[in-house]
Amino acid sequence: MTNLRSDTQWDSVSAWDDDPVVASWNGLPMLEQNVTADVCVVGLGGSGLAAIGALVERGLQVVGVDAGRVAAGAAGRNGGFLLGGPATFLHSSLTTWGTSSVDLYRATLLELDRLAEMLGPEVIARTGSIRLAGLPGEPADDAEAADRVAELVDCAALAKVLRDNDIAVEEYDGELGRGLFLPDDAAMNPSRRALGLASLLRGRAGLYEHSAVTSVKSGRVTTEHGSVSAPVVIVAVDGKLEQVLPDLQGRVRTARLQMLGTAPGLPERLPCPVYGRWGYDYAQQAKDGRLFVGGGRDRFVDTEWTFDTSPTPDVQGYIERVAERMAGKPVDIVRRWGASVSYTTDGRPLCSEVLPGVIAIGAYNGTGNLVGPVAARAAVVLALDSTAPPEYFSA
Ligand SMILES: Cc1cc2nc3c(=O)[nH]c(=O)nc-3n(C[C@H](O)[C@H](O)[C@H](O)COP(=O)(O)OP(=O)(O)OC[C@H]3O[C@@H](n4cnc5c(N)ncnc54)[C@H](O)[C@@H]3O)c2cc1C
Repeated sequence: MTNLRSDTQWDSVSAWDDDPVVASWNGLPMLEQNVTADVCVVGLGGSGLAAIGALVERGLQVVGVDAGRVAAGAAGRNGGFLLGGPATFLHSSLTTWGTSSVDLYRATLLELDRLAEMLGPEVIARTGSIRLAGLPGEPADDAEAADRVAELVDCAALAKVLRDNDIAVEEYDGELGRGLFLPDDAAMNPSRRALGLASLLRGRAGLYEHSAVTSVKSGRVTTEHGSVSAPVVIVAVDGKLEQVLPDLQGRVRTARLQMLGTAPGLPERLPCPVYGRWGYDYAQQAKDGRLFVGGGRDRFVDTEWTFDTSPTPDVQGYIERVAERMAGKPVDIVRRWGASVSYTTDGRPLCSEVLPGVIAIGAYNGTGNLVGPVAARAAVVLALDSTAPPEYFSA
């Protein structure tokens, strides 16, 4: 077991929720009766809320339910990176699933513009992002040095494909190391994003928190204390999707991702979200100096295929070292947390009618802040217009 540097809160609260705007959220009611609607949306994260927004714009009566608070899952507990494109780097996804991955890239950038317009610069910071080859600081050994060289070659291949498709990219060579700067990307506090969207929607749709769904059937969603009868159901749950819809077992698989938050006051060092070592390790720095850091998914593959969301010493020990590399100095940790996401085998996110009138979206393979809302819009047009989802989804 790893020796961890600091005594920390190993609790279920993410450091994003220390934000005063998030802490002052005054909540939504619990569903305690049987109601009817045109559409029921399960899950009030970034994806479910985007679906509700698109549905109310079309004049429909919508009910949305969540098992916990708005964005109780990954949508409120993630790295806060708003990156263009699919989870897989564009040059790799082009090879495996063709030019539709470029369409997905463009759709996520449009989604980012929409979010920025709705929520403003206080919530969505158009900072760009940095993809580093390796992590900041000197390589620890020859293997790390060689991996960094290989990743620089990969960065060049990615840059070429981005340029070929008129997507903005620059070389980065600075204090943190070498890699790419992607000026279109952005950063956010993910809880603030979701609560901001819920605030805009709460008078226009019936939204309910602390209303865990116990069963989803065609035409009916049942929660612990009430139910929703609706001809269309959209299940917008990324992690644990196969628990909500057991028909998806074998098509999607849930994993835990973990993060930590440092104390404030670290010197300003990360100008924007930074992800390194093939994108596995990542950090964002807030204005007050604190770092939000995650990673190590590739190093702990076996233990992290789990529905459990508790942080664990081994992964946290690894992320702590990433935090120190990102900060360039020792750090004090104040919070550690985990959350669930889900994966598909071919890397394409899911947008699929699972039962008649029941559409599932999710399995964003670790990067769902923008792909999720894109899937939500595809689900809405699939449900209402019978338009098949674009090829970049697993349908
Ligand atoms: C540590 C971590 C870091 C990440 N970093 C990034 C990042 O920087 N950028 C990025 O793009 N992506 C990132 N991701 C992935 C991203 O967070 C998710 O893909 C995205 O937030 C999924 O949002 P969602 O609304 O689709 O679903 P979720 O947030 O998974 O779920 C939506 C809601 O469904 C509710 N729910 C679940 N079960 C039920 C039920 N039975 N009844 C009712 N409600 C239910 C949950 O309470 C939750 O609020 C990260 C994920 C994690 C865990």
